[in-house]
Amino acid sequence: MHIHRLPVLRDNYIFVLHDPKTHTAAVVDPAEARPVLACLNQLQARLVAIFNTHHHGDHVGGNQELLRHFPGAVVYGSAPDRGRIPGQQVFLQGGDQVCFADCTAQVLFVPGHTLGHIAYYFPAPGGGDLFCGDTLFAGGCGRLFEGTPAQMLQSLQQIRELPDPTRVWCAHEYTFSNLKFAITVEAENLALQERLVQVQAARQRQEATVPSEIKIEKQTNPFLRWDQPALMAATQGKNAIQTFARLRGMKDQFSG
Ligand code: ZN
Ligand code: FE
Repeated sequence: MHIHRLPVLRDNYIFVLHDPKTHTAAVVDPAEARPVLACLNQLQARLVAIFNTHHHGDHVGGNQELLRHFPGAVVYGSAPDRGRIPGQQVFLQGGDQVCFADCTAQVLFVPGHTLGHIAYYFPAPGGGDLFCGDTLFAGGCGRLFEGTPAQMLQSLQQIRELPDPTRVWCAHEYTFSNLKFAITVEAENLALQERLVQVQAARQRQEATVPSEIKIEKQTNPFLRWDQPALMAATQGKNAIQTFARLRGMKDQFSG
């Protein structure tokens, strides 16, 4: 399975999964149809699946138009998102599996950003691929529009337990601003300092910083580090949930 990353809208990424053997493709969170159709045309591939992580418009906006071009494509989303995802045909729960080409993904239920948010994890020896929508970002996490801090913490805990070399295909290019916040709450973290410099340079060259890796996120992303003494001190959090909730609140206020 090849993965193509399409930058769309202001800072979204759409991911096209391509199986050259069968000339088929799947798409994760098509914000728009047109760039996906152009990619499929270039690959000479037929779209067989749309994998949605959650119902927001910048993740499902292209569903209907893609279905017009590929009426046989199957639209996947979570059971709680029933009625909120255009064209949805499959209603997934955590623990379900979905297939594309000869790959199988595990469905993770990761509420918080929305109440029905799911992620698709394709395990592989030497490092699999996680499509996590707006749950985990490189250096950050999604805003809590519908869920509670406790729900989001549990969701991120699940993600934190994935193998270190897992690639993290998140749906937005927010890395630089995320890390600028991260350094304000964990200034002494050397891995974070280095990453901030690297990411700033990459963005100046207009390079993408997605995919990230679970290992790097565990070292530098404050929203996977709620049990680090430095972050508990920075937030005066008495436990994991309070530390996480305060970090999320500080990030909501942050402009830098
Ligand atoms: Zn969203
Ligand atoms: Fe989004």
